[in-house]
Amino acid sequence: MTSFDYDLFVIGAGSGGVRAARIASNHGARVAVAEEYRVGGTCVIRGCVPKKLLAYASRFHGEFEDAAGFGWTVGTPTFDWPTLIANKDREIDRLEAAYRANLQRSKVEVIAGRAVLVDRHTVRLADGRTASAKTILIATGGAPNVDPKLKGRELAITSNEAFHLKALPKSILIAGGGYIAVEFACIFAGLGVETTLIYRGSKILRGFDEDVRDDLTAAMGKRGARIVTDRTITALAKAGDRVRATLSDATTLDLDQVMFAIGRSPNTAALGLDAAGVKTTANGAIVVDANGRTNVDNIYAAGDVTDRVNLTPVAIREGHAIADTLFGGKPWAVDHDLIPTAVFSEPEIGTVGMTEADARTKYSAIDIYKARFRPMKYTLSGRDERMLMKLVVDTASQKILGCHVLGPDAAEIVQMAAIAMRMGATKADFDATMALHPSAAEELVTMRDKWVAPV
Ligand code: FAD
Repeated sequence: MTSFDYDLFVIGAGSGGVRAARIASNHGARVAVAEEYRVGGTCVIRGCVPKKLLAYASRFHGEFEDAAGFGWTVGTPTFDWPTLIANKDREIDRLEAAYRANLQRSKVEVIAGRAVLVDRHTVRLADGRTASAKTILIATGGAPNVDPKLKGRELAITSNEAFHLKALPKSILIAGGGYIAVEFACIFAGLGVETTLIYRGSKILRGFDEDVRDDLTAAMGKRGARIVTDRTITALAKAGDRVRATLSDATTLDLDQVMFAIGRSPNTAALGLDAAGVKTTANGAIVVDANGRTNVDNIYAAGDVTDRVNLTPVAIREGHAIADTLFGGKPWAVDHDLIPTAVFSEPEIGTVGMTEADARTKYSAIDIYKARFRPMKYTLSGRDERMLMKLVVDTASQKILGCHVLGPDAAEIVQMAAIAMRMGATKADFDATMALHPSAAEELVTMRDKWVAPV
């Protein structure tokens, strides 16, 4: 019988890799994980966590404005970017240390540096050594895209660098229309930066419900972010100490900073996948079955590197399921249905299930319930912004197919709605639930009239 150095070798100590390594080791496997940057991965180091801390910082702007209606006099607020970044960095260091400690407690060997596949059972480490493993898990995540053909692309940053800017720019142009572009546009606008979002499509947040997309676009405009659609950046050049962006309509903009948030690609380049015979899609994502297994039967992949649903809780579950299945005698597969998600824009989006457009293509008849109202807090603050609540319901079964919220605490609200929806809740179940008053979420259980399209 062949003996291997490890039962499981994990490449990448991010959300999926760390969970898989810990669980497998707790099940008694001999496990090592290699990490080329920082333990914790994208989410902890340069994704969800620092992003949300920056979003919190940016929201004080609106809070100070809203406070006046409640009798507060707030002097002219000032903001110090280096303080925010230093405090954020301290928190990220703390979290990284906690992740390391958890791995150590689970007796996982952490190997610093890049690992690449040499064959289906062997990886080469950064120091030139090789290690063999019965099973290999690829959990290398993804990285931000930059248009490789764009002239002057080196003048732009991505989300990776946005977390480490030395100074807050006075103006920024953000390219992209996905949630990361939108979130950063709201963060910078909230922090007082003159912000422009440029998107090649006609409406931001493709894939989200149309009402949510429209209402957020309007709200972002009111909160000071300019959104330019149907255009792209065609070139960047230095203009003194600023950057000149030429747009596809031949206009130019001079800015302190340009940022690309135009999507992310799986981290599979130069990973030795060919040597091991692992198949990828055209965009480099590793192809896996429902159990995370690649076409090579001892090599698995989890998280963003498989480019299925690129979210932290999904990567964590995929890693967990692989470890339980292979080493815990408890086989299970991740259900990718009904995954709640948020956009930490200002106002915030929370969403789970089907959009209205999706449901219309999949069901013969659907009912729509929607309410737009002014959140109670804004009655005194005078803020001109509406909250949106929307339910998409299958007419035949009355099951809730989709729940979409735009407004304060949308993420918190939708996480709870997702539980009900997973349990198969119907509109009648929502209606039978007592309202919690006064709250915004009560609207989800008090909407009685079907929405009828104006004629
Ligand atoms: P990652 O967490 O990316 O981990 C992969 C690790 O592998 C990295 O640490 C990398 O350094 C390492 N690595 C790569 N190649 C090698 C190699 N050859 N050898 C050794 N190590 C290697 N998700 C949410 O759910 N909610 C959010 O609010 C959210 N916000 C986000 C905001 C931003 C700005 C970004 C960029 C992402 C955000 N995400 C969010 C997505 C989330 O971060 C990812 O879905 C998640 O981190 C994926 O986990 P993973 O384990 O697949 O990969």
